[in-house]
Amino acid sequence: MGSSPLQSAIRSVIEWGMRSQATLSPQPKATEQFGSLTFNDQVQRQRLPRDVYKALRRTITHGVPLDISTADIIATAMKDWALEHGATHYTHWFQPLTGITAEKHDSFITPTTEGRAVAEFSGKDLIKGEPDASSFPSGGMRSTFEARGYTAWDPTSAPWILVGQNGSTLVIPSAFVSWTGESLDKKTPLLRSIEALSKQAIRILKLFGSDAERVVTTCGPEQEYFLIDRNFFLARPDLINGGRTLFGARPPKGQEMEDQYFGSIPDRVMAFMQDVEAQLFRVGVPIRTRHNEVAPSQYEIAPIFENANVATDHQMMTMEVLRRTAPKYGLACLTHEKPFAGVNGSGKHLNWSMSDDQGNNLLNPGETPHDNVQFLVFCAAVVRAVNRFQGLLRMSIANAGNDHRLGANEAPPAIISVFLGDQLTDLFEQIEQGAAKSTRPGGILDTGVSVLPKLPRDAGDRNRTSPFAFTGNKFEFRAVGSNQSIAFPNIALNVAVAESLDYMATELEQALQKGKALKDAVAELLQKVVKENKRIVFNGNGYSEEWREEAARRGLLNLANSVDAFGELVKPEVVETFERYKVMNRRELAARHEINLETYIKTINIEGQVMVLMADRYILPAALRYQKEIAESVTAVAEAGGTTREAKKLLDRVSSLVDQLRERTEQLRDLLNGHGNGGSEEHARHMRDKVIPAMNALREAGDQLELLVPHEEWPLPTYREMLFIK
Ligand code: ADP
Ligand code: MG
Repeated sequence: MGSSPLQSAIRSVIEWGMRSQATLSPQPKATEQFGSLTFNDQVQRQRLPRDVYKALRRTITHGVPLDISTADIIATAMKDWALEHGATHYTHWFQPLTGITAEKHDSFITPTTEGRAVAEFSGKDLIKGEPDASSFPSGGMRSTFEARGYTAWDPTSAPWILVGQNGSTLVIPSAFVSWTGESLDKKTPLLRSIEALSKQAIRILKLFGSDAERVVTTCGPEQEYFLIDRNFFLARPDLINGGRTLFGARPPKGQEMEDQYFGSIPDRVMAFMQDVEAQLFRVGVPIRTRHNEVAPSQYEIAPIFENANVATDHQMMTMEVLRRTAPKYGLACLTHEKPFAGVNGSGKHLNWSMSDDQGNNLLNPGETPHDNVQFLVFCAAVVRAVNRFQGLLRMSIANAGNDHRLGANEAPPAIISVFLGDQLTDLFEQIEQGAAKSTRPGGILDTGVSVLPKLPRDAGDRNRTSPFAFTGNKFEFRAVGSNQSIAFPNIALNVAVAESLDYMATELEQALQKGKALKDAVAELLQKVVKENKRIVFNGNGYSEEWREEAARRGLLNLANSVDAFGELVKPEVVETFERYKVMNRRELAARHEINLETYIKTINIEGQVMVLMADRYILPAALRYQKEIAESVTAVAEAGGTTREAKKLLDRVSSLVDQLRERTEQLRDLLNGHGNGGSEEHARHMRDKVIPAMNALREAGDQLELLVPHEEWPLPTYREMLFIK
């Protein structure tokens, strides 16, 4: 057999199928595996002196700062535990503004005067690291000569052991800040936003007689991804460098048979998933769900929800483990929002709620939500937040990759709205009329088959087309991109909701001071909030043209692409709100805005360059060879006196496509080089308005050629192969 990517892929699929899959050694018990590589609460309790353990818990639950002598004791215990797990190094692991994670490893080993070595790790080493910050994006927040950046241990997220082939590393989740205390990462503002929301939520809870001291936001992100044979991946420069295919004709079979969603999972994929889950289990990521997704070769992994900070760390770890584990199974994991045109892209549903320190979910409506006034207040606060900050929320999910999904009839539309479902919508209508008096029952679902158990019916059906849906006891922000960190969408939500809770708490407190009864004050306030914000509620089909028109009539924003959406972050009311709740200051926001624009420009630029390369060096040579083949055939057949009518037509068709391909390659090359000397906003607009259309035009010519050039002469794996050979 030869060694084209196709042949190699076929071989690896066949070999996989023949290999014995039976596992002889007993699998370790899942319950014992979970968290076995984390410095979790149980380990802390066992290994720390009682008072130190208590001090650490106070830090974790109440944010009380740790003193350095306590940190020293924790560091020693952590080091001993890590050494027992084979660790030689430790690292402060952080989330700079690149969108991925960063780590710099240091050894525990210190040489002694006798020429031997001891393992050392002090409280200072634990608390603070100092990577060179100059090579991380700062959006102009600091210049290289003042490049000091510090990583600071986040005690609320458990350290874990990263197992490598030749040794292990203690990983310490950390924040990353500049010398001036400004955040250079995603974790710092996330932690600040959780605190901001907590403060406001507690004011409301107090009014309802709760003695809770803190509220956390909870979050469960569902991750979609594609898996393809690695031979294909490595044969495609666009997948290697851009994460998505930039050329590729539609295959004869796509997802139209709807035979993939929840379908049985192929053996090789199952083996991969089990490996991923086992790794994540050991480091304490509570993975729960696995299934096939809608598109061919698309899958999903989802955890049980956790507090938003830990969930965000765990989400980054999940993406990392997915990408790292795939090659072990001869696979490549694609987390891009749209790896393949014409089939569904990937998202990351962000399930979001709030919970008090007694474990109560504040968005749990209970059996009779009409008299669960506290729930109604929190729920109305979220609806108000989404309405007031729709631009910010839209911006929080904007990036070049997600532009291929939003508004493209497969993902939620670019218009932000809230789905409440029948039951809550009915309640909101009652509130608007005066007060909520009754709850529409969900009732029993009758299957019509007597042997099947009677199922309680959910209070509302699902709506897959809504970007922000109430799903029983939480909201689901569905428009988040599969490749993005969930930190910023969480931050945006937390800040927006904190502002609403603040508003509502203030209104209620003032009414009570004036002697109004709580019940009446709440009824009045809810009515006002529902009236003023109901335009954001939409339960219909978010993909429809009518919704676009209706949303425009309601005055809702429709920011169709990232470049339109980015600016929302630096709108005066947004900046003012972030500053008021001390989540980010003007400079921190401006820096993120600049980085968003730069990242967008760089992404499109890389894609454009890769397209030029692929057109010049892959597609054109193949097309020219085929053109010559036809031309030679025409000459030979004519000489022999045969008819050449159709062959000549084919030659003309191929020739004109070759011309198109050449012209469009040059156009794209010129546009990539000539973007004027404006700032990043102008450059980003140039990319959107000039470069992307030129890329689309070039792709069209390339894809037409793919449909003509003989299979064995086509230099790239095709959709038909990549998506269906598994
Ligand atoms: P659905 O079927 O509506 O998607 P699931 O129960 O399967 O609901 O949950 C989907 C995701 O939502 C899971 O990751 C789950 O942990 C998460 N989730 C459930 N409850 C909450 C909550 N209170 N806060 C945040 N996330 C939650
Ligand atoms: Mg879901």
